[in-house]
Amino acid sequence: MQSELGLHTVWDVLTDFPYRYIDRSSIVPIHRLYPESHAQVRGVLFDLEEVHRNGRTWLEGYLRDSTGILRLVWFQGIKWLKRNLMVRREYLVFGKVQRWRGGYSIAHPEMTLLDHNKELRLGLYPVYSTTEKLTRVGLDARGRRIVVERIWELIQQRGIIIPENLPTSTVQRQHFLDRHSALRAIHFPSDAEELRRAQERLKFEELFFLQLQLLYRKVYRKRKMEGYVFERVGEYFHAFYQERLPFELTGAQKRVVKEIRRDFKSGKQMNRLLQGDVGSGKTIVALLSMLMALDNGYQACLMAPTEILAQQHFHRISQYLYGLPIRVELLTGSVRGKKRDEILQGLRSSDVHIVIGTHALIEPSVEFARLGLAIIDEQHRFGVAQRAQLWKKSTPHPPHILVMTATPIPRTLSMTLYGDLDVSIIDELPPGRKPVKTIWKTDNFRGQIMEFVRTQIHQGRQVYIVYPLIEESEKLALQNLFEGYERVRAYFPPPTYQISIVHGRMKPEDKEREMARFKEGITHIMMSTTVIEVGVDVPNATVMIIENAERFGLSQLHQLRGRVGRGAAQSYCILLSGHQLSEDARTRLQTMCRTNDGFEIAEVDLKLRGPGDIEGTRQSGLLDFKLVDIVHDTNILQRARSEVLRILQQDPELQKEEHRILRSFIESKVLRSPWGMIS
Ligand code: ADP
Ligand code: MG
Repeated sequence: MQSELGLHTVWDVLTDFPYRYIDRSSIVPIHRLYPESHAQVRGVLFDLEEVHRNGRTWLEGYLRDSTGILRLVWFQGIKWLKRNLMVRREYLVFGKVQRWRGGYSIAHPEMTLLDHNKELRLGLYPVYSTTEKLTRVGLDARGRRIVVERIWELIQQRGIIIPENLPTSTVQRQHFLDRHSALRAIHFPSDAEELRRAQERLKFEELFFLQLQLLYRKVYRKRKMEGYVFERVGEYFHAFYQERLPFELTGAQKRVVKEIRRDFKSGKQMNRLLQGDVGSGKTIVALLSMLMALDNGYQACLMAPTEILAQQHFHRISQYLYGLPIRVELLTGSVRGKKRDEILQGLRSSDVHIVIGTHALIEPSVEFARLGLAIIDEQHRFGVAQRAQLWKKSTPHPPHILVMTATPIPRTLSMTLYGDLDVSIIDELPPGRKPVKTIWKTDNFRGQIMEFVRTQIHQGRQVYIVYPLIEESEKLALQNLFEGYERVRAYFPPPTYQISIVHGRMKPEDKEREMARFKEGITHIMMSTTVIEVGVDVPNATVMIIENAERFGLSQLHQLRGRVGRGAAQSYCILLSGHQLSEDARTRLQTMCRTNDGFEIAEVDLKLRGPGDIEGTRQSGLLDFKLVDIVHDTNILQRARSEVLRILQQDPELQKEEHRILRSFIESKVLRSPWGMIS
């Protein structure tokens, strides 16, 4: 019957933790009660009788302690109560106190018969979640508590000890309750401190085993998984670096290139996450890495989440490499027929050196002669499983993998989501960038803003105007965009001014044409729904206007803002909103005005939305915790992670006797994982 909540076994019931506790540690004398509070009273029940009045029936009883009398009343379950409640016996009574004729009354109090052979349990009482269906069969919050109480009684009677699952040394080092005590205490804590300790220990457990999985995989790979060795820094790299690189790399870019080079030479397969805010210059790092692969006779691929982004990477990289004997191809869903066959052939024969594309790259028909490096841009849109698909594109070793993300991820999250990857961070913007100025205005300032746009256009600059996608209604989103277009056109009529418009309903080639017109500076204004959200690079654009900014999430706003501020000129981000905003929307817009720091923004975002809504986290399943709150339990996460690292350092294969249980945990995970130990 408890399958209603996914509770099938006793163990399920024991590990379905209370979601809150009621403090029943004190007993209040009746003359000290005050109305509208929850209170616990101890007294003798007397005078229990059924009352019929005005066509209604209820059960009324009185409780006496040495200080006064309290009325108790029930409107339901009268028959059962009459049979079970015992007059002249002592009860512990709990419920919400209300005024009643100069005295107090509690309706439907919780009654515990005081049995003098049994210890009286005060302290915190657990409250479990329940459903209507369960309530109907008597398993309301209280019924569920009684079930758990019974189970613990049995456990105690039979002398059952719930076995420890952490190494003894860990329990000692962390000063934890043992597992048996922690599980008991989380249901029936004697006080707040014991509850805290139980929660701490059980949260640690959750994080510990997740980290064990991630880090074991990482350590295992590092020890076992051989990778291609790119020893040479050769012609292509030098030709590009010394003769073509149009700027000096930033310190952070140099550092990351070094980190990648070290991986390439290590003889182990690289699995690295490259984090860097929008505009920090990840593309060049990607390109330099690909050239290292090419210099050693390997191919490289770059996978982007959208067609537009793939095209853009393709154009930029082709430009950078123009004139060098390197064949770069673009492979997306819309490349078909003969062209597609040619590319596939070229990949198999090694004639194509670099291929850039979308998901199309992981299709089984795409085979490489010697794939040495796979780069994934904007990882949050791809799942772990897709990452794993790329592994299979090369033999005898998997290719080196570089995952790039422009969404700064708070450290706590990246330790979990990417806990099995090495991390490089570009934490420095190219020199000469002026931070984007961000302002937030309500709709009625639009006229003023259009005049500002005019001055910018007259200085030769370009402008984005972005409309939100509306999940409930694509039609409405398009309507907003088109109405906006008419309005903007009234300010900026042709032929003096040219406006591009891009939206999700357009054919890819039309989108591409419009993007190209904007890029080449033929159009002054680019109006769109969020298709330009990621990656588009037009350094001459200096103004980003975001309509209905309150409808965007923080990380989206930050991404959009990253589209400007890429050239030397001062750039602006203008957030337009209505007047009536939710508290959260206000915080989002204020945060945008306060800071340009992607990591700070990511932290605020995480706090506002919780981890479940951060893109890419849900499908990962890595954040489905029972107790852990990844936003607040940073400290425990850190401790769990270093404990795991310490164990794996001493005993990477988990061969020691005290790690036997960890070993079998890992083995059970390997069996369940569709791609085994390697992904
Ligand atoms: P990201 O992909 O990290 O958002 P990009 O690689 O698109 O950033 O780079 C943003 C812009 O900065 C590009 O126009 C690029 O040419 C330029 N850029 C990158 N690195 C440097 C650098 N070290 N110095 C000057 N400009 C740079
Ligand atoms: Mg990019």
